[in-house]
Amino acid sequence: MCLFEIGGAFYSIRDSLEKSIGPAASTLLYLAGIQGGKRFANSAGRIGMIKVGTEGLTDCIEIFSQAGFGNFFISDADWREPRVIIECDTPTAFEAFAFKENKHSAKGPVCDYTRGVFAGFYQELARREDIMCLEVECRASGSRHCMFEIGQHDRMMTKAMGARPKK
Ligand SMILES: [Zn+2]
Repeated sequence: MCLFEIGGAFYSIRDSLEKSIGPAASTLLYLAGIQGGKRFANSAGRIGMIKVGTEGLTDCIEIFSQAGFGNFFISDADWREPRVIIECDTPTAFEAFAFKENKHSAKGPVCDYTRGVFAGFYQELARREDIMCLEVECRASGSRHCMFEIGQHDRMMTKAMGARPKK
């Protein structure tokens, strides 16, 4: 129920944003997610709700999942690189769920707020600003699951450029 309500409301927000500012809506939602993720990791860290340092990422993701945003889990991690893969199967990530619920088939990944939250978690926990999160697969655009990758900004930018369809 929680997931449905959030999904419905969120879909309207995204839809309105896209109508007024176009593709920049994705970036705006991503940046909003980063702020939300950082604030959460900071306050949860201060009250001892999560482990200190990047180990706290698992706790943050678990709390995010329990709040009804989807069933997210870390499926692979190289903490030194860093390269952290987060997947979401069922329940579906709430942003993809909202798209599917509205019978809207997306051309690419849509979970921009969520990937922002993950980047924000990691930036705060690792005390690094040069961290970015990409969604590499999304259920809203036909994949089996949503899959995210956290990594160093320049490496992720290169990856994002490479993923763009060639003209
Ligand atoms: Zn997705």
